[in-house]
Amino acid sequence: AQIKSSRFASSHARVHQAPRDGKPEFAFIGRSNVGKSSLINMLTQRKELAHTSGKPGKTQLINYYLINESWYLTDLPGYGYAKQSKKTRAKWESRTENYFLKRQTLVCAFVLVDSNVPPQLIDLEFINWLGEHGVPFVIAFTKTDRKQSRDGGSVDDFRQELLKTWEELPPIFLTSATRETGRDEILEFIETTLLA
Ligand code: GDP
Repeated sequence: AQIKSSRFASSHARVHQAPRDGKPEFAFIGRSNVGKSSLINMLTQRKELAHTSGKPGKTQLINYYLINESWYLTDLPGYGYAKQSKKTRAKWESRTENYFLKRQTLVCAFVLVDSNVPPQLIDLEFINWLGEHGVPFVIAFTKTDRKQSRDGGSVDDFRQELLKTWEELPPIFLTSATRETGRDEILEFIETTLLA
């Protein structure tokens, strides 16, 4: 699987403004600072396709990147930024829920989870919401190069938490943007899913 070209396509506040060309899309989402921009840049081998956090929690836009002129990588606003107001949080929630419930071209969501911290309620709640609404998703653990992650980390604990609610686990990817870990696996998964 290869990424031959990638380019910024458009930004939208709401899902009804998003591209209507019917191209399939894979959405990336996670807590702010989880390493989403870094992972997107690592996957596309671009330094600044996605902007790494200057202002966490500020961007509430859905960014569309067109890959190989054939599918979209969709960068969704992060959640769980501590300094967010209730109003901002509510806006994020309604727009994000709308996106997942209405976007018919969505093939699969990548939920990014930091492998260096114990399982976070906000991640589990978000994943459970996707599962309850039948949204296809996989989990990508980030920053697996860090020491906390190497020393056991939270991946197994997170699996155990999910198994309290779900009988089956979704596909799980272990990634590090700095070491370029997980790139082949993710691109392979996307390619296979597109061909299915
Ligand atoms: P975003 O807010 O989710 O888009 O997160 P960013 O990509 O901006 O990354 C947040 C912080 O985590 C930055 O300081 C990055 O340098 C750091 N970071 C991101 N990915 C990795 C990784 O794979 N390994 C390490 N060690 N740090 C990372």
